[in-house]
Amino acid sequence: MKIGFIGLGQMGSAMAANLVKAGHDVTVWNRSPDKAEALVEAGATLADRPVDAAQGDVVMTMLADDRAVEAVVYGEGGIRAAPALHISHSTIGVALADRLAADAAGGFVSAPVFGRPVAAQAAKLFVVAAGAPADLDICEPLFAAIGQRTFRIGETPSAANLVKLSGNFMIMAAVEAMAEAMTLAEKGGIDRRMLLDVLTGTLFDAPIYHTYGDILVEDRFRPAGFAAPLGLKDMTLVDTAATHLRVPMPLLGIVRDHLKSAIATEGEDVDWAGVALAVRRNAGIG
Ligand code: NAP
Repeated sequence: MKIGFIGLGQMGSAMAANLVKAGHDVTVWNRSPDKAEALVEAGATLADRPVDAAQGDVVMTMLADDRAVEAVVYGEGGIRAAPALHISHSTIGVALADRLAADAAGGFVSAPVFGRPVAAQAAKLFVVAAGAPADLDICEPLFAAIGQRTFRIGETPSAANLVKLSGNFMIMAAVEAMAEAMTLAEKGGIDRRMLLDVLTGTLFDAPIYHTYGDILVEDRFRPAGFAAPLGLKDMTLVDTAATHLRVPMPLLGIVRDHLKSAIATEGEDVDWAGVALAVRRNAGIG
């Protein structure tokens, strides 16, 4: 298939590489063109403007936030009026997804993903997709090339964004809970690894506890697989959706504040699991 791929950050570069590997004809664009070098060596073509990457069958975007997606769609050389079906993988707000769906000349599918860069490299992402069934059919082989499973959740694209935001809130809440439990155990003289082994070996044998439990036990907060400012962006998008739908989410306020604290004290480059550092500091052991 003739594919455009826009946004070659930690996630996008790995996803685009897997699409090239799967034999697709891939044209890439990134704000900082140097990040395209490895992909061009692997067989991709580098476009001068976003719109030049959106002349084929589909154009996939994987960008930092709402502002980045708006720039690439509505800005100079943007893809809004391009013929390609726009598949949006970025974690963006519900309102922007609705606007993109209304405006896209070539059709629009929302397909945010679960999984960190390591999962993206291994083509093991989980894709949550929503859009017109015929458009989702077109996407199927592409999602198979980047992920291990696709969930089709309906015809309204922004529903996929609400699912993704709900999931990210639960990840952050799980990390917060683990960080508090580990801090409690550690201050009481119990080894963090031992606590994690007991928990994941009994009632908490889920990928989220394994992945983030290891990060917390091993203090792997840099380099960030998912940078804390992006996590803060997501929790802010959750808050916007919760305000719109009139849903009180008291836990959200706690994890968002710990993210702010982690960024303020650790810097912009810390992983979002760095909330554990805020939890430890509050207990006097950080
Ligand atoms: P990243 O490494 O920071 O990459 C961000 C990308 O957005 C880069 O290509 C960057 O271009 C581009 N960008 C930022 N601002 C821009 C602007 N104003 N105009 C044009 N391009 C702009 O982020 P990532 O970790 O790949 O995450 C990408 C998206 O996936 C985010 O929405 C994130 O929430 C979501 N996500 C991330 C993970 C994860 O674990 N990392 C997992 C699931 C979903 P430059 O290269 O020029 O800076």
